[in-house]
Amino acid sequence: MSLDHAHVQTRLVHAGSPDLKQGAGPVNVPVVRTSTVRFADTATHAALNAQRAAGERVATYGRHGLDTHQALEAAVASLEGGHRSVLAPSGLSAIVLVLLATLAPGEHALVSDSVYSPVRRVDKALLQRYGIEVEYFSPGRDDLAERFRPNTRLLYLESPSSLLFEVLDLPALAAQARSRGVVVATDNTWSGGLYYQPLALGANISIQAATKYLAGHSDVMMGVVTVDSPELARQVGATYDALGLAVGADDAYLTLRGLRTLDVRLARHHQNALSVAEYLSRHADVERVYYPALPQDPGHALWRRDFSGASGLVSFALRADQPGAAARFIDALRYFSIGASWGGYESLALEAAPERLAEHSVWQGGHEVVRLHIGLEHPLDLVEDLDRAFGVVRDGLRRSA
Ligand SMILES: *Cc1c(COP(=O)(O)O)cnc(C)c1O
Repeated sequence: MSLDHAHVQTRLVHAGSPDLKQGAGPVNVPVVRTSTVRFADTATHAALNAQRAAGERVATYGRHGLDTHQALEAAVASLEGGHRSVLAPSGLSAIVLVLLATLAPGEHALVSDSVYSPVRRVDKALLQRYGIEVEYFSPGRDDLAERFRPNTRLLYLESPSSLLFEVLDLPALAAQARSRGVVVATDNTWSGGLYYQPLALGANISIQAATKYLAGHSDVMMGVVTVDSPELARQVGATYDALGLAVGADDAYLTLRGLRTLDVRLARHHQNALSVAEYLSRHADVERVYYPALPQDPGHALWRRDFSGASGLVSFALRADQPGAAARFIDALRYFSIGASWGGYESLALEAAPERLAEHSVWQGGHEVVRLHIGLEHPLDLVEDLDRAFGVVRDGLRRSA
């Protein structure tokens, strides 16, 4: 079935669907587990190995992934508008895969300073040891043009950023990199690939922690890399093979099952999160709300230009400068679990660590920050829960005064 001209909702439902065999078949692609791939004869074995070596998406070994993996890859490639998608065992491993596929010893990468913090750990623990230099820049303050060097090979971005959801001007940043032959990669986890099309805006590579909105049910670890060219597909594929990565067929199945309902889930996450963000922005105990879909957010104009919706992540700074207020607030919540990996159907709350916030040049310092993931509960229940938690913090402050 050609889906080239179909809307994204239609592609989410049909991309990667299995062909009927002998006139009938299931809706969902089967879970195809294997270690060994069998071949009809030695000539076929040799031919398929040659096709794989030439960069075709052919499986000749269990690590390469068969039908279930290929169906998920096809669906994500369709969602992101890419040439090909490659799975990885987690979002972070997908990031590492891109870094190792695009950078070699003696080369240099520019990374936005508001990036998902574990990227800095990859830099310290791995890239530095292998002689790859990473330089962090402020997307809001720095003139990127001055940062490029003759050995710069990669511009790595994330928009909106982790924790404070700073929106980056991807078309402008990407144009500067591409005019110098520098590859542009961006982390697209926040939008689930549905509300943001980085490849259409100038990126060469879009990365997602499929663990989050694609899988959507807090029960899978999965990453996915989508590239815009056969050349990058070959580079990423060769690095995948060299690292010995493999993804379980059951996890690929669950991720594809989550992806089928991405549009309806994200629409509700957006709607609920906007209600909560509006409530928070009116609250006397809140210093500032970080949510680009709010008109007063500094990233709102760029968000409106480049995005078609918003996710369930909302951060806010507490006005109380009483240390421990954020922890008391979070402990008082009933419907919000304390947890880091967002993107499931449930609401979460977590205090943003000050040392993580300090990495972001947009961070003004001072107040404690709570990051919420707004789930699919009724927004009035969530607001009531938050309201009670603000009351608990206030009572605590009054008693200690
Ligand atoms: C969670 C997250 C990751 C890492 O994904 P895992 O599957 O947990 O390894 C990468 N980038 C962003 C923006 C994330 O939020």
